Amino acid sequence: MKKRIMLDAGHYGKRNQSPILPEYYESERMWLLCELLAKELSVLGFEVFKTRESLSKDLAVVERGKMAADCDLFLSLHSNATGNGNTKTDRVSVYAPFDGVNESHTLGKILASTVAACMDIKESHVKTRKSDKGDYDYYGVMRGARSVGCPLYYIIEHSFHTNEEAAKWLMNDVNLKSLAIAEATAIAIYFGLEPFIKGDVNQNGKLDIYDAILIKRAIMDTIRLSDRQLGLADLNCDGKLNTYDYIAMKKKLM
Ligand SMILES: [Zn+2]
Repeated sequence: MKKRIMLDAGHYGKRNQSPILPEYYESERMWLLCELLAKELSVLGFEVFKTRESLSKDLAVVERGKMAADCDLFLSLHSNATGNGNTKTDRVSVYAPFDGVNESHTLGKILASTVAACMDIKESHVKTRKSDKGDYDYYGVMRGARSVGCPLYYIIEHSFHTNEEAAKWLMNDVNLKSLAIAEATAIAIYFGLEPFIKGDVNQNGKLDIYDAILIKRAIMDTIRLSDRQLGLADLNCDGKLNTYDYIAMKKKLM
């Protein structure tokens, strides 16, 4: 049976504008990321659902979490904002269940480091936030998901839209696509779905331009590939990653 994933774009309409990049709205960018992530997860064999059908439609946070009944995973997608006007803050935070139920911190850490590596951000961590009022999560979406028995539920903060560099990065559609691929791939590996095609560096089950981009970036040393990815990227199988692999990849795509 297919694993089921409920995706939640954090906000609706035009919400949470970046003070430093006026065209950036958290609601709009996370909506696009949600769409892209849904596509990538479907390609990898997951059954994917979304909490809301349209960007303009709102739904209360607890209700959104509750939609994860019968799902194996719930993810709420966000970018964060500092309240103190600090524009330097730049880190990836993944909020995991307050009590680490179902070893949820394992996937939490994987998600945090995957997003940080993709966005080239140094700091990433798993956080918990317990309600002051009792033994449950502070955040409504998480409480909702927990209340219907969803075993793994997270909020991903894709750094801060109060940080210019992070906001600019998230404003780029190609970057969001690579983020979607990276997140989907990490989730697939976690659940034991491991597509394996030579050249398929992002392991989304097909060869595409994004594999070529990853190979190019790895050669230019702007990203670091995992050992498995290096194996997939080494197209001429000479044990090294260099321009010849990039050329071979481009040929495959033509
Ligand atoms: Zn948010």
